Amino acid sequence: MVNGFSISGTAADRKTMLHDILDEVELTRYEIGKAALDERVLAAMAKVPRERFVGAYDRYRAFANGPLPIGYGQTISQPYIVALMSDLLEPRPDSIVLEVGTGSGYQSAVLAELVQQVYSIEIIGALASSANERLQELGYGNVTVRHGDGYHGWPEHAPFDGIIVTAAAPHIPPPLVEQLKPGGRLVIPVGEPGGVQQLMLVEKRGDGSVSSRSILMVAFVPLTRSQP
Ligand code: SAH
Repeated sequence: MVNGFSISGTAADRKTMLHDILDEVELTRYEIGKAALDERVLAAMAKVPRERFVGAYDRYRAFANGPLPIGYGQTISQPYIVALMSDLLEPRPDSIVLEVGTGSGYQSAVLAELVQQVYSIEIIGALASSANERLQELGYGNVTVRHGDGYHGWPEHAPFDGIIVTAAAPHIPPPLVEQLKPGGRLVIPVGEPGGVQQLMLVEKRGDGSVSSRSILMVAFVPLTRSQP
């Protein structure tokens, strides 16, 4: 404790966070079409030290159910959204997953607890290197971070069982759909940057056909593009 604030995530902080997630799942159950999230996802949320992914001044509220600043005008999503997006991917221990928008590395760490390998791309160089350092320090050896524009995916490691985009895109990037395995799932906020978006779930079936549906209204920072 420093000045009365808890500076690391206590068991109580994490328990409160999980309760908040479950409450919000209950509130949105008709929109998201489910009353519960995967137990493995909840266990991963309970395990990852969220306080290590935010600045020192925000540690006391790291487990509150809201987004937090991570510098460069970017934010780490609220725990409920991280849990929901992870659940929508239907992660398996042998999955290979791509994330677009590494940010702090928090979502990558949650996925790293759930799947075999996470590839994550971040367009802001300074965030890519600090997230990479943090993830290695915390022992997440199954996350590989790269600096670049994730609109194009990561063809060298494709196809993926799941792709998660944590920035708002004006449309679903075709390269990401191409880089999904048959049976794979893409979770992405689509809509006006700066406004609200639809969190979309895109599924590629065994025969290669693609279907998509909207899950929930969300508000993400924009997917930006590198200049050609
Ligand atoms: N998943 C992050 C939240 C990131 S906020 C976390 O858990 O902390 C969205 C991130 O997407 C920002 O860091 C932003 O710089 C990044 N981003 C925006 N456009 C991008 C693009 N085209 N390719 C890769 N990253 C992008």
